[in-house]
Amino acid sequence: MCLLGIDLGGTTIKAGLVDIKGRLLVKGQVPTGAAEGAGAVLERIATLAGDLARGQGLAMQDIKGAGIGIPGSVEVEKGLVHLAPNLFWRDYPLRAELAARLNLPVAVDNDAHVAALGEMWQGAGQGFNSLLMVTIGTGIGSGLIIDGHIRRGVFGYGAEMGHVKMVREGPQCHCGGRGCLETLASATAMVRRFREYLAAGQSSRLQDGPDLGAREILTAAAAGDELATRVVDFAASYLGMALANAVLLVGPEAIIIGGGPAQAGEVILAPIRKYLAESLGAWQIKPLPVLAARLGNEAGIIGAARLALELLEHRESF
Ligand code: BGC
Ligand code: ZN
Repeated sequence: MCLLGIDLGGTTIKAGLVDIKGRLLVKGQVPTGAAEGAGAVLERIATLAGDLARGQGLAMQDIKGAGIGIPGSVEVEKGLVHLAPNLFWRDYPLRAELAARLNLPVAVDNDAHVAALGEMWQGAGQGFNSLLMVTIGTGIGSGLIIDGHIRRGVFGYGAEMGHVKMVREGPQCHCGGRGCLETLASATAMVRRFREYLAAGQSSRLQDGPDLGAREILTAAAAGDELATRVVDFAASYLGMALANAVLLVGPEAIIIGGGPAQAGEVILAPIRKYLAESLGAWQIKPLPVLAARLGNEAGIIGAARLALELLEHRESF
């Protein structure tokens, strides 16, 4: 028996077939094409799923269920996406639409919740009873696990850390708000800030270009580039502060940082730890483990498969 795990991102759809022990059998990806609308996105998912199954010599009936993580808040019981700011979706009945196209039972959840499930099942979260996972990418997502269970809150917007307000008149966010954490510390925000510094005449060994991303900025920072280091430090300072606020609210045992930038390692983790400790001050009873996600960009696929498994087993989270 195998499960289909889908990680729907703003730019890329990743999907894979996973066995019930959490082993990834095969994976693939296609561009999201979000601008073409939700229906076209779902068609791409269905085509990718069919290709993966065929590549393994399987029929769709051999897949027992599908899970999907999406970059927005989801009311899991209804399979309803309330708001996905970077996909520009609102009140979209994703579970029903996708189940009809895949002809499979489908479980839907927020992408960072799903990544947290994946890390707890197969990655850096193993052995912890409570943890906070934060993913840094186009936006910032988070997933909260308490007593071994993912906590979603009412309407699924529990742990929407990317939109906690950090600066009252701060940058405009796609959610309509201002000064949200993701406008200051996401991969997108790092690139924007770096470009602003360059436009203001500051110099760096790293050149601007259409392919400039957070990865290049983090690599330059690791190599000692001063401007890139300032950009990373700025993002880390807000991440550290927001994490300290979350820690004081829920008291997790560990923090896991995921998403592309986390794979750069200490260049971003060390300043996050520094600002977290600084913001916690006397409340840092003992240094909290701040770990890089271990499943890399497979966390979303594996976590989504776990979600499907929980749906099939009718775990209490459904
Ligand atoms: C969305 C979250 C999502 C995060 C990462 C944010 O903009 O609001 O729901 O988890 O991006 O994709
Ligand atoms: Zn926002």
